[in-house]
Amino acid sequence: MVRGLEDLHIHSHYSDGVSSIDEIIQRAASLKLKTIAITDHFWPSGGSRKGGKNTIEQRRHEIEIGRIDFPDLTILEGAEVDIHSNGDLAPVAGGLEQFDLVIGSFHRGTDSTRWVSALVKAVRKKEFQILGHWDGYLSSYREEDGWMAAEALAEAGIAVELNGRYLIENTGFLELAKSFGCVFSLGSDSHDIGTVGKLNFLTKLASGLELQIIQFEKLRQFF
Ligand SMILES: [Zn+2]
Ligand SMILES: [Zn+2]
Repeated sequence: MVRGLEDLHIHSHYSDGVSSIDEIIQRAASLKLKTIAITDHFWPSGGSRKGGKNTIEQRRHEIEIGRIDFPDLTILEGAEVDIHSNGDLAPVAGGLEQFDLVIGSFHRGTDSTRWVSALVKAVRKKEFQILGHWDGYLSSYREEDGWMAAEALAEAGIAVELNGRYLIENTGFLELAKSFGCVFSLGSDSHDIGTVGKLNFLTKLASGLELQIIQFEKLRQFF
């Protein structure tokens, strides 16, 4: 049962997903999810379609229609943005402030040392609320880097995502993050409607490790 849960990481055909906004919303409503965030990649982040403001505005218009048709479902207009190796987030036409929710993610292989250095710089800029698939592209992991990452994330109030698409290899980091007071979010990282709301194993992982899943409305907003 995923009724009442929040799936805060979904891609549509506005980036590298295959489903329309309408299909995603209908599926989420039928599952009785409480909240979804449609978090496409926008140019020039990896996985994005070419196109700037028009693409974003067209998607926004469809999301607004969905909000009217499904008033019981909270539909967030989000973006998943690349974290670069220097700690900068990839730019988005119109700025990150326009979104309800921003996920910052690494999409290139990186070792533990470079990962924590880029992450800590990115976190200090306070431009994203969720760290996506935190170890999805990690080629190595050292616990001392995990400490630094967890401390920075906890201090900024940025949630560590439990992601449905990537195998979480280093569960030790999750326990470390918990001990530093980090909060966690759920994201299917769905790319087609079959996986929207596929959160059951993530909620099991969270309850097994006693991780606190934060609700979107309690997530710190930086903009
Ligand atoms: Zn991603
Ligand atoms: Zn994604």
